[in-house]
Amino acid sequence: MQAIKKDIRALTKEQLRTFFEAHGDKAFRGNQVYEWLWGKAAHSFDEMTNISKETRQMLEDNFVINNIRVDQMQRSNDGTIKNAVRLHDDLIVESVLIPTPTRTTACVSSQVGCSLDCKFCATAKLKRMRNLTPDEIYDQVVAIDNESRLYFDRPLSNIVFMGMGEPLMNYNNVLAAIDKITSPEGLGMSPRRITVSTSGVPKMIKKMADTEVKFKLAVSLHSAIDEVRTSIMPFNATFPLADLREALEYWYGKTKSRITYEYVVWKGINDTRNDVDALVKFCKFAPSKVNLIEYNPIGDEVFKQADNSAIEKYQQILERNGITVTVRRSRGKDIDAACGQLANKS
Ligand code: SF4
Repeated sequence: MQAIKKDIRALTKEQLRTFFEAHGDKAFRGNQVYEWLWGKAAHSFDEMTNISKETRQMLEDNFVINNIRVDQMQRSNDGTIKNAVRLHDDLIVESVLIPTPTRTTACVSSQVGCSLDCKFCATAKLKRMRNLTPDEIYDQVVAIDNESRLYFDRPLSNIVFMGMGEPLMNYNNVLAAIDKITSPEGLGMSPRRITVSTSGVPKMIKKMADTEVKFKLAVSLHSAIDEVRTSIMPFNATFPLADLREALEYWYGKTKSRITYEYVVWKGINDTRNDVDALVKFCKFAPSKVNLIEYNPIGDEVFKQADNSAIEKYQQILERNGITVTVRRSRGKDIDAACGQLANKS
């Protein structure tokens, strides 16, 4: 039986150096291969043209490169691009490029399916199959960076972990991917241009704060009232708002980095004055801002975008209380690429 070859990108630079030394070559060869794998995002050993043919064959005999493949690319009327990305085991995730006049943002996935079951989210209908590896996350970013250069003539400027999956349920791999994305040997992006968006896993938020990460944090809040939040995000019963609040205060204490609350206003669910007042109170616990996001229907009768008047009321009351608020129009709706719509339908 043929042995299963290991993905070479699971090796650190030091491990690659050791591998070459153990095979009678110079440790420096490990640096060269590492540069090909990460800096140049090589898809095959054959691309490594400054490595001898024999050495490339030896790598081929011992390892594989489990690259992702963009199976299908869809372009929206507003310029948004959605990639259906095939993984080495034929599972599919989606990632999105969102262009604006001033920035190009990649929205990337962290899991195949999702471990959580937010009622308003299309991804929740897919059961979680597995976590993405650091290189699968990295590859999504590289693919979108290439598309950004090709179609918009500029490199990718921002990344949000807001695609499929709960990033903090794949904590180690997400952080390892961010390490590669921000490293000069990878894409050299500033961590301040990266946002990890979570539904709010208190223990992991504290762990991130202790790690003194430099990227930004966003929380999909959607309600600051336990009863309401639990009804739309059932895991809130396990991690109630008091625990989330404590973790966010801890986060701010350690990082001094303002938190963004992602918030959709739904008709008949969270559109009363009571809901707004609860959000205002929640925002006072730690410096924060609110993104009011337009809802993208997923064919469910329960969740309907609130009236404009309800959204305006939110905006006015938040502003009156000194809280920065942005109303986010949805992008890529016509190709099911908008927030909460990713469900491998293409
Ligand atoms: S909103 Fe995010 S955390 Fe909730 S089910 Fe969807 S992908 Fe998972």
